Amino acid sequence: MPKYTVEIDYSTMDTMLICERKAMYQYHDGYTRTSEIAGALDFGKCIHTFLEMYTHDNFEYAKSIALTEAKKTKLKEVEDGQRYSLSHLTQLMAEYDKAYATDNRYKTLKTELKLKYTLLDSEELKIIWVGNVDKVAIDTMFDEPVIFEHKTAYTTGEQFENKTWPNHQVLGYYMLAQKAGYDVKKIIFNVLKTTGYYKTKGGKISGDLLTNPTDCFIRYEVPVDDTFVNEFELLVVQVVKDLIAMTEGKRAVKFNPPNSCTMFNSKCLFHDVCKSYPNERKDILDFNYEKRPWAHFKITREE
Ligand code: SF4
Repeated sequence: MPKYTVEIDYSTMDTMLICERKAMYQYHDGYTRTSEIAGALDFGKCIHTFLEMYTHDNFEYAKSIALTEAKKTKLKEVEDGQRYSLSHLTQLMAEYDKAYATDNRYKTLKTELKLKYTLLDSEELKIIWVGNVDKVAIDTMFDEPVIFEHKTAYTTGEQFENKTWPNHQVLGYYMLAQKAGYDVKKIIFNVLKTTGYYKTKGGKISGDLLTNPTDCFIRYEVPVDDTFVNEFELLVVQVVKDLIAMTEGKRAVKFNPPNSCTMFNSKCLFHDVCKSYPNERKDILDFNYEKRPWAHFKITREE
């Protein structure tokens, strides 16, 4: 009997639970639409660099690192004032600093930790949960370690909060931190809201990101403990078994457009693929998308 070793992270898991088709296109086949999203990817990378480096007393340093990175990318070619422009990046960093400048209750211990732990090791299956923890800090009020996660989100409010309840995302971070020796009690999500900013048909910049930028930074604090760890691990095992069966052709990829399916607008990377006739999909993928190796999940099989 073969033994499978599977490395999986939160993004794959979450996407599998939301839309299997998307998980297979994005994380199994590695498709990404480079021409349209290059700006978004570069922008995301730069803002994340800033967020990783940022502490309340080193704003200028973190900003200069992010801008140096940005100047090496396509961002500089983007017209001033557009969503993925240097000026937009600079403005967001300034707004972030305004929002968190007095945040000196937390002292940074480590940033950008790449962590993994063995969630299951049986005769047939080994599962390794992997993830990056953005920052571990000490909450000086309680002398306890906390995790900071920087997120960008199209939607905040209820939809984002649902992801911060003790589900697989929160528990994934919690377990990674525990296994690395940090007994965390809380995860803090600093969320940069990216909706509300768009170019109107007339070419004007609109939306609340610029007109009301303080709305862009939202913080959620989620307490964590062991309560749902068993459920979390069972869910991971089930998703991994589904992934193995699908990649070996033993189970169809369900076409189960979720409530949040964005087939008829441009938010899902694959909206134009799903809208097209089945016999056109392969051509659309090959023509409009490029394959990139993703580090999100990996399956190896030993006979
Ligand atoms: S458009 Fe909808 S069904 Fe298609 S991959 Fe995206 S979320 Fe899934």
